[in-house]
Amino acid sequence: MTIISNRLQDILATIQSAQQKSPFRQQVELLAVSKAQPSTAIRAAFLAGQTRFGENYLQEALNKQAELADLAIEWHFIGPIQSNKTQQIAQHFAWVHSVDRLKIAQRLNDARAELGSPLQVCLQVNISNEDSKSGATPDALLALASTISLLPHLKLRGLMAIPAPTQDIHQQIKQFKRVKDCFDALIHNGFALDTLSIGMSEDYTTAISQGATIVRIGSALFGARPSKQTH
Ligand SMILES: *Cc1c(COP(=O)(O)O)cnc(C)c1O
Repeated sequence: MTIISNRLQDILATIQSAQQKSPFRQQVELLAVSKAQPSTAIRAAFLAGQTRFGENYLQEALNKQAELADLAIEWHFIGPIQSNKTQQIAQHFAWVHSVDRLKIAQRLNDARAELGSPLQVCLQVNISNEDSKSGATPDALLALASTISLLPHLKLRGLMAIPAPTQDIHQQIKQFKRVKDCFDALIHNGFALDTLSIGMSEDYTTAISQGATIVRIGSALFGARPSKQTH
């Protein structure tokens, strides 16, 4: 498992150098995306110093959380949310990046009430990926942010996006800029946001150059995922 430790050090060094070159001089955090990875791989990354992990599928995450209950991991939910899963998501995660409609936000808020601390949330915005049903349209963000900020058990931190994958760096920049524009517009409207969750294994240095504060990295850290990929 030292391979995970080596990759982690490489990624952290790459993040640091991208951060130093970024015009925004922002702090950037690594979220290790562990979907489809066994809990042994998560444990190895944790022992190498990584504490934040992102999961996409609730049941898979709950199983691994039980196996890793001895570790002080900060769990982030980053997958699509069905309304019948909100109770458990609100209770088993510190962060949710994929809030894209009011009904889900309200249900997460209600389920979080019995815990002492608010759930940290990002709104997922869909700026380019026409194939994806996930994510609010940019037009819907202001109203969504306004209502969500009134929910006492959620803390609105920022935006998350999964732009359509492309190898073309100009296209990557264009897409990330669109997300950053949405983020800046919300701040301009008075929302105290500090989190821009953009960038994955293939494009995280570009995302950092456009203002990312959390990069969500799976395969570059853990290696290719087993191909079973569920939806
Ligand atoms: C799988 C996934 C990632 C990580 O993807 P990699 O290309 O393996 O780094 C990041 N964000 C979300 C929402 C994902 O589903």
